[in-house]
Amino acid sequence: MDKEKEVKALLRIKSKLLDLIYKESTSKHQFDIFVKEVATSLGCVAAGFYFVNEWKKAYVIEGEFQAELLPLPAFIPIDEIYREDHPFYADKKQGVYTSKDGHLLIFLLQRLDGIPEYLVLLMEDQQQLMLNQPFMNKLTDVLNSYVLFKGKMNELYDKKLHYTELFAFVERFSFHRILKLDVLLSEMLEILQRLYPSFQYYLLLTHDYEEINQLPVRDLDYQEENSLALDAYVSGKVTIEQTSTDIVLYAPFIGSQGVYGVLQVITKGVYAIPKADQKYFGLVAKMTGAIIENIQLHQQSQQLIGDLQFINETSQQLNADLRFTETIHFMTEQIKKSFHAEEVGFFLSQDGEKWTPLSGSTSFFFAKKSKDFVIHVQKLMLEKKDALFIGDLTIPHTKASYRSLMAVPMGNLGAVWGFVVILHPMPYYFPFDSFKLLQALIHHTTLAFKNSLLREELEKLVVTDHLTQLFSRSYLDNQVEQSLKSDEKGVLILIDIDDFKMINDEYGHQVGDDILIQVSEIIIHHIRTSDVGARWGGEELAIYLPNVDAKIGVSIARRLKEQVSRLTSPGVSISCGVSHWKANDDESYATLFHRADVALYEAKNAGKNKVVFLEKDRD
Ligand code: GH3
Ligand code: MG
Ligand code: MG
Repeated sequence: MDKEKEVKALLRIKSKLLDLIYKESTSKHQFDIFVKEVATSLGCVAAGFYFVNEWKKAYVIEGEFQAELLPLPAFIPIDEIYREDHPFYADKKQGVYTSKDGHLLIFLLQRLDGIPEYLVLLMEDQQQLMLNQPFMNKLTDVLNSYVLFKGKMNELYDKKLHYTELFAFVERFSFHRILKLDVLLSEMLEILQRLYPSFQYYLLLTHDYEEINQLPVRDLDYQEENSLALDAYVSGKVTIEQTSTDIVLYAPFIGSQGVYGVLQVITKGVYAIPKADQKYFGLVAKMTGAIIENIQLHQQSQQLIGDLQFINETSQQLNADLRFTETIHFMTEQIKKSFHAEEVGFFLSQDGEKWTPLSGSTSFFFAKKSKDFVIHVQKLMLEKKDALFIGDLTIPHTKASYRSLMAVPMGNLGAVWGFVVILHPMPYYFPFDSFKLLQALIHHTTLAFKNSLLREELEKLVVTDHLTQLFSRSYLDNQVEQSLKSDEKGVLILIDIDDFKMINDEYGHQVGDDILIQVSEIIIHHIRTSDVGARWGGEELAIYLPNVDAKIGVSIARRLKEQVSRLTSPGVSISCGVSHWKANDDESYATLFHRADVALYEAKNAGKNKVVFLEKDRD
């Protein structure tokens, strides 16, 4: 080639390459046109252009021109090409040279970092090309700049693709606050599968997340033999492992407060993972870790808010004007609902030794068959006098089988006066968080609970006659009025001790009082808890029996009369006046009382120690 031709060829190549640079700037560059331009400008018959592929540790053909005329492999391992006997031997010292047999013109193009990365092979039939070294050097410069530029562009293009995906991913989950772990992890996997489709991915997580069963999850705890996974977890850094078949990368899901697991990438058919890609996997996992942390913090704060609301609501309910039994019933229902407990029992103790279940607890605690179980639990409480959290409770020789138990004392450590026990048949059923919540709940409601208990005791005191322990007159009045409204029938018995003045006169007031107590005890013993035994005057007592027939009322009065004569000492007798009402009688408390009073008067007149029943006048 003469000088003029050389200049022309150089200019032609330059302008062509400049065209190419401007033409494709948005998509990834293909090197075919470049190869063709260079080859035809130099009058070559065929050409191939190789690019270093870090994954494969090899030169891979990226652009070719009539390659069938040349024995061009698609793939040349890096180690081989630097061996002198290789047909495309890369002579690092030279920018451009001919192969030994003189048929190949080889350009070794330099990358910025100095590694000879790009390689152009040209089949040439004009040996004199080599003769003009200055021309070749100029040409090498031109090709170098072009390949450097396009290589850089391609790298940026890849980076842009990777980081745009990552940015959109982070944006979706951090700024738009999508707070679902399964969505997060599956989107992360989708991105990786899109960018690196031939690899396999696993999520090695530290604990079970119920919601992500569909994903390729493995338990990190079972990776003991897999020390590099644990290394990544512990160090918070990316680790790489060369197995006999693959290269495996581990990238930790790391947040600012902890590591939540490890992303496992199992590559296929590669010899190395380029630094840039290692960094990318690391970053994806790190961003994901930060978002997992966000989601968990959110869930925890939601849980905390829920817990506080629950405690607050419960306290408020307790402070509302509930009966004590209703209070316990309410608490039992709340605990059953919130903790998914099967049994809930409230125990009360006067002396810290003997625990009695309170009504309002679930029926299990009162059933005969659960007696041994309950006794055992009471023993546990007595021993510990502190909160209990048991996941594998076994009590020999008992029918009831509850494996999970939580118990929390009420009152302070010195003086525990109550206990709540909650049970579930499955072992290890209650999470530790529930235990903490139960403690918080009891801690915050104990006062209200105690108040409710005291109020009930106080009320009992007000409605109870101090001497006889019978109800007061006002309580009797209330109960009868109430019953007349809501029941079907009822019996009122008025009782007066016969010749009581004489007892007082003979033995003194003290003994008189004692007789009153004796008679009252006989009454209490003879009636049910739903009946009302009351002292409505000095030595005048009364019994109201709701939902009882006249006949039964009379027989109860008779039995009482007999028992009093038999059991009192010094012996006294009583007289009883009985009245009865039933629905549609148009009865009032006054008329009911009046009839009983008249009947009592008749009993006295008829000689005392008698029961008289006065039926309602039905005309
Ligand atoms: P009767 O058979 O007619 O009922 O004769 P009685 O003596 O019982 O007469 P009455 O019921 O009218 O008398 C009531 C007496 O009971 C008057 C009072 O001295 C006495 N008494 C009333 N309350 C008490 C009390 O709390 N303790 C004592 N020891 N005596 C009382
Ligand atoms: Mg009297
Ligand atoms: Mg009397």
